[in-house]
Amino acid sequence: MDQRTGSDLTVGIDIGGTSVRACVVDPTGRILDTLRTATPATTEALEHCLDRLVGELRDRWAIGAVGLAIAGFLTPDRSLVRFSPHLAWQEAPVAADMSTRIGMPVFAEHDANAAAVAELHFGAAARGHNTLVLAIGTGIGAGLILNGEIYRGSFGVAPELGHLTVVPEGRPCGCGKRGCWERYCSGTALVDTAVELIASQRFPRSALAAESDADPGSLTGRRVAAAAADGDPVGVAAYADLGRWLGLGLGMIADVFDPDLIVLAGGVGAASGLFLDDAREHYTAAVTGAGHRQLARIRGTQLGETAGVIGAAEVARQGLAATRESGEVN
Ligand SMILES: [Zn+2]
Repeated sequence: MDQRTGSDLTVGIDIGGTSVRACVVDPTGRILDTLRTATPATTEALEHCLDRLVGELRDRWAIGAVGLAIAGFLTPDRSLVRFSPHLAWQEAPVAADMSTRIGMPVFAEHDANAAAVAELHFGAAARGHNTLVLAIGTGIGAGLILNGEIYRGSFGVAPELGHLTVVPEGRPCGCGKRGCWERYCSGTALVDTAVELIASQRFPRSALAAESDADPGSLTGRRVAAAAADGDPVGVAAYADLGRWLGLGLGMIADVFDPDLIVLAGGVGAASGLFLDDAREHYTAAVTGAGHRQLARIRGTQLGETAGVIGAAEVARQGLAATRESGEVN
């Protein structure tokens, strides 16, 4: 493997619920090296794992800093991880602790914000001024760029768009509420919708329905997607429903933020050909005064599932530059 010198390289690490991905990224957003492993179960094991991944990459490349993309609530200055749904960190100074452990500067960022940073600097949001990056996967992750900057809210937790209530007393959500947007507009939602459609017995010719009747466990988001691509009526109807809820939610968000660009990312977002026309139609119907205003363009991600690591690496690069600058000033 090529060796590089100089500290213009940073490591981005995306800590997901099931896997950890660590990449060496150059200043143009190009990934030079990747390591992947299953997410360890305990905090101690996770911190050891992060240390080991950085150590391995450090043996091969000259690295200046590390960025961590973390799902959960971080303080606005990102010094503390308040809470993470998949990880045991609570009120934890993760960046400082990992910096001490690894022996180089470490910066933390919310995972959806990291993906938005990557799309802003290197991807589909490069020309966006007020941009929503919406990652539709198991749930919904959202990053919001306002006036070219990541919007964090007053206490660091904005925007939790996936948990906007769209159906009062609707489907239960893991967050403890009911009727959250992501319970109708996600990979998980696709399966729930397909189950409901099959139970309605309105689609006797659906191969997906026949398969599901024979083996209920066979119904996965991936299977619904494949069925929709094949024109199966349940699959097509499930995606039309997702498109409807996506459009409705985007209309609400546009009424608050009036974005110029919406970037769809995540596993479901990447298959936007199956639902984008429905989404646009319902978005136009839901937004206030659609005939009298410009509407945001909707486009797909350019970075796909690597946006989180590339963004985390960019956050590290910016953090390092800011540290050096303040060091020079002082
Ligand atoms: Zn929720």
